[in-house]
Amino acid sequence: MLYPMEKRRREEEEEEEENKGVLSEQHKCVYKGKSVSLTTFYRIARNTMNMCFNKEPAASEVEQEYWRIVEQRDCHVAVHYGKVDTNTHGSGFPVGKSEPFSKHGWNLTVLPNNSGSILRHLGAVPGVTIPWLNIGMVFSTSCWSRDQNRLPYIDYLHTGADCIWYSVPAEEKTKLDKVVHRLLQANGTPGLEMLERNVMISPEVLSREGIRVHRTVQQSGQFVVCFPGTFVSKVCCGYSVSETVHFATPQWMNLGYETAKDLKCRRIAKPFSMEKLLYQIATAEAKRDNGVLLSTISTPLKDLRNVEMRQRQELYEAGLLSSARYGTPDNNQSPSDGRKKPRKWLALESSERRCQTCQHLCYLSMVVQENENVVFCLECALDYVEKYKSCRGLKMMYRYDEEQINSLVNQVCGKAMVKSSDNCNSPPGSGKAGAKRGARKRATVEVSLSRLSPSTPPPPSATHLPKNNTHLPKSTALVS
Ligand SMILES: [Zn+2]
Repeated sequence: MLYPMEKRRREEEEEEEENKGVLSEQHKCVYKGKSVSLTTFYRIARNTMNMCFNKEPAASEVEQEYWRIVEQRDCHVAVHYGKVDTNTHGSGFPVGKSEPFSKHGWNLTVLPNNSGSILRHLGAVPGVTIPWLNIGMVFSTSCWSRDQNRLPYIDYLHTGADCIWYSVPAEEKTKLDKVVHRLLQANGTPGLEMLERNVMISPEVLSREGIRVHRTVQQSGQFVVCFPGTFVSKVCCGYSVSETVHFATPQWMNLGYETAKDLKCRRIAKPFSMEKLLYQIATAEAKRDNGVLLSTISTPLKDLRNVEMRQRQELYEAGLLSSARYGTPDNNQSPSDGRKKPRKWLALESSERRCQTCQHLCYLSMVVQENENVVFCLECALDYVEKYKSCRGLKMMYRYDEEQINSLVNQVCGKAMVKSSDNCNSPPGSGKAGAKRGARKRATVEVSLSRLSPSTPPPPSATHLPKNNTHLPKSTALVS
């Protein structure tokens, strides 16, 4: 059932003994390999292809053989798959200032920072806003997965053989959860969590179980766009090099915010701070009077403020009286109290600290145990204080004080196109602002996607750029 190559982040989870079923140690098929040069990889890819096929196969032939091997389980086939950070090894897109299309909106090194993408407020984060290259060979597989942050992403096949993509729309998640749980005899682990562990299930099997599965073949020079929360798996039909990066339209915000909360509950480390993203969008966009965007972020921002203020209050009431400011407030928000930052915490300004308990990336505030160099998020600090009945040695570190946070929330709500019944001044804790997942209609996202391109596509003679670039909206394979 499993024949993947890339070892994912969740190695530890896989090593847990909790699942003795199909995901036990003896069934584990993904192993981390060593670093090889592209030339070596290409040679292995060519040899593997020659071993499996007499002549260059069509995508459908590779697909048929792939599922025959996976389903019959009578022979073992090992192939390789590589993931390369373009920040250190360079992108396949032109990046030199004088190179043509180095600033083009469909250049994936540029796309996350286009005006329609709210991720431009995040800065450079490898694997999120900095693209990565995927190097594949015949049968190289990306197992069923959806992005951890439910971010949409875009993949461009630079060169090489076709890639077959299978996708299950986000709306099918409840059904998929049940089906996967049953198929994998998951013993209580939710099916969707099982899918986080390198599992490949035939689209035919899923389809027979009533799941809506789509398939598309991506050719060299084509983009594939994956919508937020879509479940995707991919099989390479030969040596190929593609490049992927995330972006986000404002419609993603509520889903992203709820997902970040869920990851925190499950103590899973996230690659970036949702609080920071939200706060930076708010500070930057409040100046620009972008009513539509501000109303999109006002609900999660209020929820963030309410949770933050409630937890600060609870810690204060529990006896945590020692506090200090840290970090540099956003350049447009000069600290109103003009208090000096404590010198010894200057080191915290540039580094992002994670809660040692839940892995949460602390942004607005954290509780530190100065002598032990231990960091807690407010929620875990509350648990700690509850458990040990003491705040000794603990200190609250905050980036913004209550007044500053309230002022930003009021500024955003004031400019947002909100209903008059929406109360921005609800007292902390009382307003379960409930950042509900908005109905994410596909049509809405498609409209926004087209806004990502700030300029018209280049002429078809463009070097380095997609062959089908002139027909982008049509040739873009929409997954889900
Ligand atoms: Zn925590």
